[in-house]
Formats: sequence, structure tokens, C-alpha cells
Amino acid sequence: MKQRLLFLGPPGAGKGTQAQRLAASHGLLHLSTGDLLRAEIQAGSELGRQVEAVMARGELVSDDLVLAIVRNRLEHHHQGWLLDGFPRNLAQAKALDQLLSELDQRIERVVLMELDDAVLIQRLLSRGRADDNEQVIRHRLEVYRQQTAPLIAHYRELGLLSAVEAAGSVEEIATRISALLLD
Ligand code: ADP
Repeated sequence: MKQRLLFLGPPGAGKGTQAQRLAASHGLLHLSTGDLLRAEIQAGSELGRQVEAVMARGELVSDDLVLAIVRNRLEHHHQGWLLDGFPRNLAQAKALDQLLSELDQRIERVVLMELDDAVLIQRLLSRGRADDNEQVIRHRLEVYRQQTAPLIAHYRELGLLSAVEAAGSVEEIATRISALLLD
């Protein structure tokens, strides 16, 4: 199976759920920038307080901060990994390309999880996280469309992109994803 993966898709598509499952069953490092940022908030640091305010508005945290987090984890990890929630804009994608070439590592597959907006909004509203109220959700979808969606073309051009329909049960979607990652 492919060992260096990137999960892409709008908020609410189920990236975290699928990423966690796949990472656990294949012994990959699951690197979720959202989870790492929430851990920083939990830790109660000054940095955490700044991150919390940005997240609550549905904006993106600074590229430098997120990149430092990812660099720190990937530098010391040479086996398989799965990036979830990063990169989120073209600047982050380019910084990642640079970092990986320094580390002599390569993305082997980008999995794009696709789902209708109406379903996304329903899922996020039922999740009830601090940044999951309707106004913030709509803003996050807008940020996704403007800043993250351009990565689809970027990775398609590199021949790395595989899209998967993200509607259905967790089990069904997991089966679809596994099928894309064989060999
Ligand atoms: P979701 O997939 O539902 O959007 P995440 O946990 O991935 O949830 O992200 C939640 C929030 O964390 C984002 O709205 C953003 O504020 C911040 N965040 C996560 N990853 C990044 C990143 N790579 N760059 C900037 N901000 C990020």
C-alpha cells in the first residue's frame, strides 16, 4: 500500500475519521494539524490563546506556525505518514514540497474526499465543536473554496490525485479509500 498520503477535502467530509482508521490499521503517523492546534489550545499557552481566536472565526492559522508544527513531526519520522488538514493553501503546499525534498521524501497519493455542501453543513452542525456553529461553518466552507480547493488542480497536475465519494457509511468509504491505495 502507499505509505505517504495526503487527505484533502472540505470541513465535514470525514477526513479525520478515515485518516485515523487508515493510519491505525497500517501503522502510519497520523498528522492532523487541526488536532495539534487544538492540543496547543488545551495546553493553555499564549500561543494556544492566539490560535483559539483564529480558529473560532473559521480563519486559517498562520502558515509559518502550521509549517513549524509539521516540520517538527516529519523531520524525525521516516516511515509512513498521513497528512490531514495540511496543506490548506498553495503557500503551504509549496512549503511542504520544499520540506519533503529536503527530507528526501515524497507524497505517494492525495485522496480527495468529495461531499455536497448541504450534507457537510448537517454533519458539522451535529458534531458541535466550538467552531461548528452555522455562521462559522459557512465561513470555513468559503475559506476552503477560495484557499484550499486550488490544491486539487495542483495535485492533479502532479498526477497524484484520486477522488472518492464521501457519502455513505464510515465502512463503505474506508473500503473505497483502501481500493485507491493498493500496490
Ligand atoms: P475541519 O476539517 O473540520 O476544517 P480541522 O480540525 O482540520 O477541521 O481544522 C479546524 C481549524 O484549525 C481550521 O478552521 C483552522 O483555523 C485551523 N487549521 C487546521 N489546519 C490548518 C492549516 N494547515 N493551516 C491553517 N489553519 C489550520
